[in-house]
Amino acid sequence: MHLVGELSAVLATALFIFALYWMNDPKTARRGVIAGVVGMTVAVLATWIQPEIIHHAWIVGAIALGFVVGVPLSRVPLTAVPQRTALSHAFGGLAAGLVGTAEYFLWRGGSATAEMTHFRMSALAAEVILGFLTFTGSLMAAGKLQEVRWIPQRPVTYPGQNFVNIGVLAIAVGLGVAVAVHPGAPWAQQAFLVIAALALIFGVLLIIPIGGADMPTVISILNAYAGLSAVAMGFVLDSKLLVTAGALDGSSGLILSIIMCRAMNRSFTNVLFGAFGKAQPALAAGEQKEWKQETVEGAAQLLEQARNVVIIPGYGMAVAQAQHKVRELYDALTKRGIIVKFAIHPVAGRMPGHMNVLLAEANIPYSALVEMDEINPEMPQTDVALVLGANDVVNPAARYNKGTPIYGMPIIDADKAKTVLAVKRSKKPGFAGIDNELYVQDNTWMLFGDAKAVLSDLVKQFGSGGIH
Ligand code: NDP
Repeated sequence: MHLVGELSAVLATALFIFALYWMNDPKTARRGVIAGVVGMTVAVLATWIQPEIIHHAWIVGAIALGFVVGVPLSRVPLTAVPQRTALSHAFGGLAAGLVGTAEYFLWRGGSATAEMTHFRMSALAAEVILGFLTFTGSLMAAGKLQEVRWIPQRPVTYPGQNFVNIGVLAIAVGLGVAVAVHPGAPWAQQAFLVIAALALIFGVLLIIPIGGADMPTVISILNAYAGLSAVAMGFVLDSKLLVTAGALDGSSGLILSIIMCRAMNRSFTNVLFGAFGKAQPALAAGEQKEWKQETVEGAAQLLEQARNVVIIPGYGMAVAQAQHKVRELYDALTKRGIIVKFAIHPVAGRMPGHMNVLLAEANIPYSALVEMDEINPEMPQTDVALVLGANDVVNPAARYNKGTPIYGMPIIDADKAKTVLAVKRSKKPGFAGIDNELYVQDNTWMLFGDAKAVLSDLVKQFGSGGIH
């Protein structure tokens, strides 16, 4: 039985590694997901068949409960995936924290056979601190992204905040060290509970000063914490599988947050302490200049006369679920010999790869999707830039306006195209909460309305009765 368990652990680990590797490429991503699911199933079964596992009814009950919570969570719209992911991390963190707490009290109660060494006790303290702070931190992050009413979206800051936060963490770590050194001391039980409570409080304090726009990056950092707590749990439970799976989880979370920080030109410390997303004064230029509107007929003519069109999708395309209509427009234009490309900003939408996933769903050829660095040199020669529910990722203020939260973020140079057509519903700003002068530029024409509805009307123009 032991050999079966060991071999299953190796198999599951290999499947996890291949899952991550295959997810690197859209062509193999589906295989990657299947490998991950199979790996996780093997891991659960391999753990379950261990002879020391005896409470089978509880496990069946827990799996059933997992299904009850997990299945509805898997059905959320793509735009809500970041907060859904945060909830998964919250559950992972809670599990690690509870397992660590149970292990400690079982040992104190004398029913755990394992020897509580200093090393194991240190790992246990790390597991509990990381697990519980991930739990409350991820819940806060999910709440902020879901715009839960009683959680402020904007950063909440006060003087000495970093001092308080670091102080709370330092006390928890200090107590963790004390408990690791004297795990059997009479006061250690109370100290352990204080550590857990401080970690829970720290998770909340950590997220309060962070603004909504940084939340997906923070969720990715919390992913890394959840992975680390799983590594610590692996050491406590003596499970190599947990150590490797946790390390893969933690490092992929860390890598993803670094990629996201780079794409937004933000440093890690800035994300964690910078209070990004504070209310910004509106840009004066945006207030004074006039918004010019175009009719669907006029827009269709502009597109029809173009030699090349670059479509720049953003969060609004995702909200409107307009990707299939985009495909119809793409077909209509390419049929007329117009070169159509999609400019993909690395943080367009609300999660990395958001636009790629949506456009792939609509079967838009991958070759038509062009990364920001490659498309930007082509923008001055572009006849029409069609901005589709994108805002921050095409805001020229990012280049020069130091007072804005997006300052320094590389953008898609939509403003350099000969003509800009921009689709959005209103004059409201994008996620960072700042005005966008692109919309009031001389060569920009607005098409106000829901992206799907506007595209639908545009496509009709290219069908019977419209442009031929
Ligand atoms: P933005 O959130 O800046 O703007 C989206 C625009 O879409 C809004 O101006 C909105 O205007 C419009 N819109 C919303 N719904 C619709 C609809 N149904 N039809 C038409 N338009 C609609 O999106 P971007 O993609 O430009 O930028 C992404 C932002 O998210 C950046 O600030 C980025 O830093 C941030 N972010 C992204 C991450 C990622 O991984 N992708 C991670 C972290 C942060 P209106 O309401 O008038 O319609």
